[in-house]
Amino acid sequence: MEIKKNVNLKNYSTFKIGGKAKYFVIAKNEDEIKKAILWAKKKKIPFFILGGGSNVLFSDEGFRGLVIKLRNTRYEIRNTKLIAEAGVPLQKLVLETAKKGLSGLENLAGIPGTLGGAIWGNAGAFGREIGDVVEEVKVLDVRGLKLEIKKLKKDDCKFGYRDSIFKKRKNWVILEATLKLKKGEKKEIEERIKEILKLRKEKQPLEFPCAGSVFKNVLIETVPRKIQEKFKEKIKNGFLPAGVLIEAAELKGYQIGGAKISEKHANFIVNIGNAKANDVMQLIEKIKKEVKKKFRVQLEEEIKLVGF
Ligand SMILES: Cc1cc2nc3c(=O)[nH]c(=O)nc-3n(C[C@H](O)[C@H](O)[C@H](O)COP(=O)(O)OP(=O)(O)OC[C@H]3O[C@@H](n4cnc5c(N)ncnc54)[C@H](O)[C@@H]3O)c2cc1C
Repeated sequence: MEIKKNVNLKNYSTFKIGGKAKYFVIAKNEDEIKKAILWAKKKKIPFFILGGGSNVLFSDEGFRGLVIKLRNTRYEIRNTKLIAEAGVPLQKLVLETAKKGLSGLENLAGIPGTLGGAIWGNAGAFGREIGDVVEEVKVLDVRGLKLEIKKLKKDDCKFGYRDSIFKKRKNWVILEATLKLKKGEKKEIEERIKEILKLRKEKQPLEFPCAGSVFKNVLIETVPRKIQEKFKEKIKNGFLPAGVLIEAAELKGYQIGGAKISEKHANFIVNIGNAKANDVMQLIEKIKKEVKKKFRVQLEEEIKLVGF
């Protein structure tokens, strides 16, 4: 395990944005993760756990601590159970479980990043979320110098819309998870994956670096009555898509520096060339201000801001 200095974080984020990490390490197993955390603790510097970097915006100043990129990638399929380490790419699991005729992950086809990142934010699409299939999550509690393993059952994970207990427990590192899948028809599952990937390609600006949806969709109860009425046809499963509000605020295509609000999907900010984190932050502020002014709705970031 080699701890490197001054590593460019833009190479580790799907946004392709960000300054340098003062220290950076790739941890390939539980032991290396523990060693890296203890190293940072002894040096009294902060650390940040990074998965696939597909839901983060690193600041232009970077991170003045140790970034620990997880690459613990062991997994095993036992009957209908999948036991996988946090660093396994989610898409690997989508495809491997489909091959075995196991259903449960197909709607998550095309979501970049790792299993750990997906569990942290309860990633989901097309009406399904990773939390639906989680049975147990193994975490490392890193309070103090004595690191402790904990096992959480699904209910303890408190999964909600793009939410979980892990967002609140800053001292927990997700190490591994057990997912409970269902036996299905391999052909049907693979067809569904193809269909989902096609839909994603149609809807999302996948030709530019980005970090997925910038804002969370808005719980309909929190939207003023008149605005609910105005957008009633757009409400999906009790949520008003943030993209609908951004588009209605006529912000599609709005650009600051190298960052632009996608023409294809208003809730995506894309890096159209050497965007700075500062450009993205200015766009985020602009969107929040306009949406608040026009619709009296306070948008909340889905992406994780790091080093600001
Ligand atoms: C083109 C595109 C499309 C997307 N579509 C979707 C979508 O349809 N649905 C959706 O939900 N998301 C979507 N996303 C967002 C993103 O892919 C997901 O949120 C993904 O699950 C993040 O995983 P990651 O490994 O990249 O996490 P990272 O971006 O690396 O990290 C995100 C957060 O999780 C924390 N984290 C990561 N791993 C661990 C761990 N092991 N223990 C503790 N904390 C951890 C990090 O500290 C950070 O705070 C999309 C992104 C892109 C770029």
